[in-house]
Amino acid sequence: MTYDSQNIFAKILRGELPCKKVYEDDHALAFYDIDPQTPVHVLVIPKGAYVSFDDFSERASEAEIAGWIRAVGKVARDLGLPAPGYRVIANCGADAHQEVAHLHMHLFAGTDLGRMIKPREKREG
Ligand code: 5GP
Repeated sequence: MTYDSQNIFAKILRGELPCKKVYEDDHALAFYDIDPQTPVHVLVIPKGAYVSFDDFSERASEAEIAGWIRAVGKVARDLGLPAPGYRVIANCGADAHQEVAHLHMHLFAGTDLGRMIKPREKREG
């Protein structure tokens, strides 16, 4: 999939659209999700032009990978989240319902997040 430089997060990175910034360094930008699904819902994006986790994990440099992952951890620590706990998720592609085609890690926190995906009794099959 080719990177579309007109995607929403590319515009936020260029300063063409506003965001409620949480953190920024050479490799990453973190900001609050516009439609939070949990009391704390932050997105952490790499500054490079990567469509998805798949794209990033294949093409990004070691420095970009380390920089982005460290930024996710730092944002969580800065917000005081490791002790109560938090969840990180990067949706990748259609089945994961990735809506914005610039890699982003969701950071969910601020409540008991429940078990992963679906409770066992609600899974199909
Ligand atoms: P995805 O489904 O791609 O993993 O998640 C995209 C996320 O981006 C959604 O949680 C959505 O609320 C968020 N989002 C979409 N547009 C904007 C925007 O313009 N600003 C911010 N801060 N978040 C956005």
